[in-house]
Amino acid sequence: MAPTQFYCLNRRYMRALDGKIIIYEGGEQHAKLHFKEFTALLAEHDEAVSDIREFLDGGLCLSKDHMMYELIAGAVCKVLTPYPAQLSDILAHWRKIVTHPTRYGIPDGAKDEGMCIHAIDVSICEGLATLKALEDAAETCIPHYQRILVPIFTSEPCRCNICEPSIERRRWHWACAQKYHSTLPAPIFERMFAGLREDAEATRQ
Ligand SMILES: [Zn+2]
Ligand SMILES: [Zn+2]
Repeated sequence: MAPTQFYCLNRRYMRALDGKIIIYEGGEQHAKLHFKEFTALLAEHDEAVSDIREFLDGGLCLSKDHMMYELIAGAVCKVLTPYPAQLSDILAHWRKIVTHPTRYGIPDGAKDEGMCIHAIDVSICEGLATLKALEDAAETCIPHYQRILVPIFTSEPCRCNICEPSIERRRWHWACAQKYHSTLPAPIFERMFAGLREDAEATRQ
């Protein structure tokens, strides 16, 4: 993983300059998310749901019973993803970055190159946190649940900028968070950046 090609937001989120890849989760638990795959998954889901609706509405289904309809439609939903609304919420933001990467990049000559300075990344990071919580729950209650957020297996400890930032980077990350994200509501700021503050404070001990 080439750290210079990724913008960091906090301890658990970074993305490629062109927005096509997002790395979510730190501490060597990275899940690598590709915009194309994410978009395709949601499209497949929507298609499957509309297919089953058509099938049932077309009278081919043996039972017109409403409960049965709901059950079958529900089962089909779970095959691809039980969380289409959450996916489409994340994609609504993510698509903007991929469509206009320079708009959500770093202005030319800015010293803080390498950090996500736009609130849109905060929205995606929040969306992924919710998705992760949903998936953690799904694993315990949906048999054979296939995660979207799958940690990449690595045999070596990861030395990227969010797993193992240098002392200078730790201070710099926290300075950037304060500089660019201080207008966020306090609870969101805390969720996003408390870890960076701790990292920066640890460098002073
Ligand atoms: Zn569904
Ligand atoms: Zn890493």
